[in-house]
Amino acid sequence: MYLGEKTSNPKHAGLSTDEAIGAVAGHELVHASDKEEIHKDINYELAHKGRARREREEKPNKVESKIMEQILMKKKH
Ligand SMILES: [Zn+2]
Repeated sequence: MYLGEKTSNPKHAGLSTDEAIGAVAGHELVHASDKEEIHKDINYELAHKGRARREREEKPNKVESKIMEQILMKKKH
């Protein structure tokens, strides 16, 4: 059974607000703490007049999806 407040972002369908915040925190953690990703982001921006690297969201989004998957799996059991 599921009692949490639902989020309005369809990306986080099925998650409560707190759970969605957890998933987003995981995403932001990659941007903020993954040295390899940070290095790539900075190098790209320096070489491309400050434009953001196109792939910069790939790894953070993967982490975010993984967290969501795990939350949704737990809810089923
Ligand atoms: Zn991001």
